[in-house]
Amino acid sequence: MKIKDLEKLLEDWAPLSLQESYDNCGLLVGDGETKISSVLVSLDVTEEVILEAIHRDANIIVAHHPIIFKGLKSLTGDNEVERCIIMAIKNDIALYAIHTNLDSISGGVSFAMGEALGLLNMKILSPKKPGFFQLVTHVPRKYTKIVSEALFDAGAGRVGSYDQCKFTVQGNSSFRALKGSNPYKGDVGNLELATEDRLELIVPIECKELVEKALINSHPYEQVSYAWLEMSNSSQDIGFGVIGELETELSDKDFINKIKKVFGVKVIKHTNSKSNLVKRVALCGGSGSELLADAIKLKSDAYITSDISYHRFFDAKKVIFLADIGHWESEQHTIQLITDYIRSKMTNFAVIKTESITNPIITS
Ligand SMILES: [Zn+2]
Repeated sequence: MKIKDLEKLLEDWAPLSLQESYDNCGLLVGDGETKISSVLVSLDVTEEVILEAIHRDANIIVAHHPIIFKGLKSLTGDNEVERCIIMAIKNDIALYAIHTNLDSISGGVSFAMGEALGLLNMKILSPKKPGFFQLVTHVPRKYTKIVSEALFDAGAGRVGSYDQCKFTVQGNSSFRALKGSNPYKGDVGNLELATEDRLELIVPIECKELVEKALINSHPYEQVSYAWLEMSNSSQDIGFGVIGELETELSDKDFINKIKKVFGVKVIKHTNSKSNLVKRVALCGGSGSELLADAIKLKSDAYITSDISYHRFFDAKKVIFLADIGHWESEQHTIQLITDYIRSKMTNFAVIKTESITNPIITS
């Protein structure tokens, strides 16, 4: 099994196209052709984690946070990021990041957090918009079936409990092939008339890249014309955060104790709930304070996340129980999530969880 096989497996689960524009997911250090000895899973890449990989004979670290996040201008070992990269390269250890793409999928980071808390009926808190694109293209009529099938296989035409959704309208087209071209029909220099179908298909955002490749590969024309239009439908399967319910309603005090136990935190910064009772809970692993408005809009009794600013707590005061449990603490279950996924798909090498606590913040 090679690193490129693991990359494919992880990206089938959490496609790179779902990462945020500022992010840097995927293989960051290493060669896809290298054979895997074993995989070490961690939230962060630190010097301790790389040493652990060396001692435990793992030649790839799959981490949630990308070690290379901003542009690197030098590799002199002046800071921990540079030292980690140098250490990884010297010891033939590949580094892979699965970050906001894993935050965005159903069953991702926030779902692992919700599961640990025992939430029921979990749904995405803030569905991604646009969740879908519309692909518009023109195909010579006798190729419509072939192209449509290739697009369906790549994920086009799928929405909710429906698949193979497409709209077709017939029309006439013309083109003239110029010198240097290799037209699929007719001769260079002559005006050609053709009968075409205009094909319109809905495409889930996570399939956009694959569908585009399938279009280019299956379409008979040398120059394929197509357009992507943003659709207003939001996806229920893609987005940040989770909302669900506790099995039984808890008082604020009991809920705080539950959070402390589940996430292993000694101190929580929080507001009080509106009615001193919590049943409906929203949460987001990592820095999720931007989703507070969604949690309030969906009538959550509580919202749990991390990296909340002082002023944000005022927005929650007397409205919702808002709790900051710490960044590492909120995402710690992601290690088990990634480990379980790789183990369920690959059985021919060991997948091990880091024993290093990478959290740089200490609460005393
Ligand atoms: Zn994070």
